Amino acid sequence: MKKATVKVMKRKAATPSQEEGRIAELMREVLNNLGEDPDREGLVRTPLRSEKALQYLTSGYRADVESIVNGALFDVRYDEMVIVKDIEFFSLCEHHLLPFYGKAHVAYLPGEKVIGLSKIPRIVDMFARRLQVQERMTQQIAETLQDVLKPKGVGVICEARHFCMMMRGVEKQHSGTVTSSMLGAFRQNKESRDEFLALIRQDASRF
Ligand SMILES: [Zn+2]
Repeated sequence: MKKATVKVMKRKAATPSQEEGRIAELMREVLNNLGEDPDREGLVRTPLRSEKALQYLTSGYRADVESIVNGALFDVRYDEMVIVKDIEFFSLCEHHLLPFYGKAHVAYLPGEKVIGLSKIPRIVDMFARRLQVQERMTQQIAETLQDVLKPKGVGVICEARHFCMMMRGVEKQHSGTVTSSMLGAFRQNKESRDEFLALIRQDASRF
């Protein structure tokens, strides 16, 4: 029964959400409307490349938590904070379809289980590779870990730069946006929160 569910989800993950070539067709139209000639040499293959890039950058819609985690939950008696910091992510803002990118820092206080450490960046990618607002992405990462791990608490902090602010609009090149989501012990307990903040500030690898 469980096997069948996973199979269906995997097949779903491999299927693009649209018929192949459809987005490329529309991209030709976009180029036309920008006053470009989609038939000139440099642009001939651009619509198709652009479609492939967009499918990749939104592949998080076709990923699912169950196959990412894939059983990598382990019973460990460890009740100190687990932190994975400086997880690079690249996402697209849903308002302008322009990139925003930065680093995510994820911490949890284990309950009964810990999760394979490589799974946390993959969960970050699953939500980053969608059309997003940074606030929601931060929450989704935290809530997913809460669901999967049932820890005593989860904290997620994302620091990002938004191309829609850097290249257009206010044109601020150096302003960063920080969002956080604190659940359970991280919300209730200032000590846990402070420990998390101190640990992610510990070395100088700033984004
Ligand atoms: Zn934007």
